[in-house]
Amino acid sequence: MASPRITVIGGGVGNARFLLGLRAHAATLPEPPDLTAVVNVGDDMWLAGLRITPDLDTVMYALAGVNDVERGWGRAGDTERVSAELAAWGVGWPWFTLGDLDVGAHVTRTSLLRDGLPLSAVVERMTARWPLGVRLLPSTDHEVETYVRTSQGDLHFQEWWTRHRAAVSAEGFDFRGAQDATPAPGVLDAIESADVVILAPSNPIVSLDPVLAIPGIRAALERASAPVVGVSPIIGGAVVRGMADQCLTAVGVETSALAVARYLGARSNGGILDAWLVDEVDAASVSALRDAGIRAEAVPLWLRDEESSAAVARAALTLVAR
Ligand code: GDP
Ligand code: CA
Repeated sequence: MASPRITVIGGGVGNARFLLGLRAHAATLPEPPDLTAVVNVGDDMWLAGLRITPDLDTVMYALAGVNDVERGWGRAGDTERVSAELAAWGVGWPWFTLGDLDVGAHVTRTSLLRDGLPLSAVVERMTARWPLGVRLLPSTDHEVETYVRTSQGDLHFQEWWTRHRAAVSAEGFDFRGAQDATPAPGVLDAIESADVVILAPSNPIVSLDPVLAIPGIRAALERASAPVVGVSPIIGGAVVRGMADQCLTAVGVETSALAVARYLGARSNGGILDAWLVDEVDAASVSALRDAGIRAEAVPLWLRDEESSAAVARAALTLVAR
């Protein structure tokens, strides 16, 4: 019999932390499942002639165990000599630092893209360097980049997020190129043939939405035979890390586990969720979620380390197990 398949959809840091736990939990199961992660490309950009894919890199580095845990991005023990040199040349964005080892990854990716490989093939090639235990798929091979509508005009997501720390009030988000994009090879199959689909505790507006905006992906979730369970990135009315509240406010969604679940919607009612895991402090929302047609449970959702993340993964799978 084929191994069970679990497919996770998400962005960078929240997704990576969750995947570390899921991988650890999966290894303890009598029938270890095949794990696939469909990763957001909306934060991607061209910079200094290089194609940069922040969420894919965050997930790849974390699963490989070479990420900088303290800083939260890039490679452990990295230096910034190339970045300093680029700044001296006046190339790139002075507020967007690239680690030297990171630049090695960007040169590799760009070189393979210029050889004509689609991004999904580049990701397959690059992730083969480490035994990640999770197959990574970009949501699409097309260039789909998130732009933020602000009073100062349209900003690339990275400029708004990294340079302005999301402090310029956002009026909305555009996933440029999404309309004409198609899911990367393997993405629809990973959703349609999964035994469980999990929405990682990722930013719903700028990590999940740009994936769902690729024509065909939302529809695949709607018709998947597998249950779809999400893990709330919001705990006690606050984002755990990052600035997701600015994104939610911009699209008129309250920063709460309940509001985010309602935003994603019950699958029985045209949405994409069968189940939603909330933190213990949000236990009061469980009955409202059930009323909305979403199976729900409250468990600790802080992804502190592999053990706590594995417990969250187990709870997510238990919630949708018959
Ligand atoms: P990004 O692409 O690097 O911004 O990462 P994601 O979109 O994958 O994840 C960012 C989201 O993860 C934020 O909105 C946080 O609220 C959420 N998050 C971060 N750490 C935790 C955690 O320990 N527990 C939960 N439940 N959510 C978390
Ligand atoms: Ca991201």
